[in-house]
Amino acid sequence: MLLRHTPKEIIERSALTINPAKTCQPIGAMYAALGVHRCLPHSHGSQGCCAYHRSALTRHYADPIMASTSSFTEGASVFGGQANLLESINNVFALYDPEIIAVNTTCLSEVIGDDITQILNKAAAENKIPHGKSVMYASTPSFKGSHVTGYENMLSAIVQNFAKSSGKRHNKITILPSFVEPSDMSEIKYIAEELGAAYIMYPDTSDVVNGPLDGKFRMYPKGGTPKALIEESGDSEYAIALGQTGTLSAAKLLDSKFKVKTKIIDLPIGISATDAFVDTLRKIAGVSVPEQLVRERGQLVDVLCDKNQYIYGKKVSLSGDPDILIGLTQFCKDAGMKILHVLSGTPSGGKFVKRIKEIAGGDVIVKEGAQADLFYFHQLIKNDKPDLILGNTYCKYIARDMDIPLIRTGFPIYDRVGHSYFPITGYRGGLHLLIKMLDAFMDRQDRDAPEEQFELVM
Ligand code: SF4
Repeated sequence: MLLRHTPKEIIERSALTINPAKTCQPIGAMYAALGVHRCLPHSHGSQGCCAYHRSALTRHYADPIMASTSSFTEGASVFGGQANLLESINNVFALYDPEIIAVNTTCLSEVIGDDITQILNKAAAENKIPHGKSVMYASTPSFKGSHVTGYENMLSAIVQNFAKSSGKRHNKITILPSFVEPSDMSEIKYIAEELGAAYIMYPDTSDVVNGPLDGKFRMYPKGGTPKALIEESGDSEYAIALGQTGTLSAAKLLDSKFKVKTKIIDLPIGISATDAFVDTLRKIAGVSVPEQLVRERGQLVDVLCDKNQYIYGKKVSLSGDPDILIGLTQFCKDAGMKILHVLSGTPSGGKFVKRIKEIAGGDVIVKEGAQADLFYFHQLIKNDKPDLILGNTYCKYIARDMDIPLIRTGFPIYDRVGHSYFPITGYRGGLHLLIKMLDAFMDRQDRDAPEEQFELVM
């Protein structure tokens, strides 16, 4: 048992992180960039960094993730990465023909102090950027924040570089989703479409990282938000940002630069948060809620009521990314579960902790940042054992050690499939999540039931 030596006794730590509950900024930045059509992520650092970023995304999505690298070696580490980036821009446009190159920095280029704005200006002055093509960049040092911070930074860069104002407002609502699965991005669009609300959504990784296998290789899959649509977002009257940790700075930028009226709400995970999203869209777009969404909501409520005895009062511990955790915590609370622990490796300046306490009540143990790691999560679970864990792939070691069912949520998930195709957002996603939870509890009950209580009647 890999983690059997984790001690039960908790000693407060201020510097050491053991088994971090997060990964590095460029991974989130690359993921956000992939949500723009014909955009190629470019990692400004060593090949090793880029190999890691690509492999993390490729393993999670089980799809090949395209990205290029500045390929730092010893020379760039000493003298800076300008020559490498200039040559990369030349080569990438010549060989791979993207519409946009999205540069993210790495620990090494940040420590060197490469001035990327100056390098990109030089690239433009030397005509290395073909007419009509763009290069943008986000600063993503991995010695602070997490992959969610990187996603937020790249999303802000997308707004900064492409959103424009024509001086004339239109009725399309800009939707900015936090770091969620492509299936969730599809579900968010589905809700807007069912409502009949005109919208622009970015990033949108559906049909990019969850495409079909049809025997043809496409460097740039058909999905991703076109640049022309992103440009229009500066003319939106309203924007809805879903999940404040992943979208706050981009939403603020739309507000401050273009006076777009911005509403920041939780990701629509579970009944109450989906209600809030539907209601916000409904009011802004001036539409009524269609029968189909009412029906889907009713089905979720129906299953929740029918099988409430299997879920009510069950104890749950959660680890993962802040915006998803807020939604999941609300979902569990609405289902009558007892929330024991909620840990996020992403720092949010205390906003996450405050929101979780608002939802779950004062008894919950909630922590964010580098010390909210999986070692601490395991210790908490050893002291107060939940009936269920919600967390990423790495929680499987804790789940096995403690003999607790685990439902994989968040990033990364390397050892299961389905997250790319089946959402947890919206009413349909809520039903999917609820069924997974019920299956976990019922399977456990069947496994542990004595002969005389092992039966078909539920
Ligand atoms: S943490 Fe830093 S050095 Fe490591 S892969 Fe990420 S960017 Fe590269």
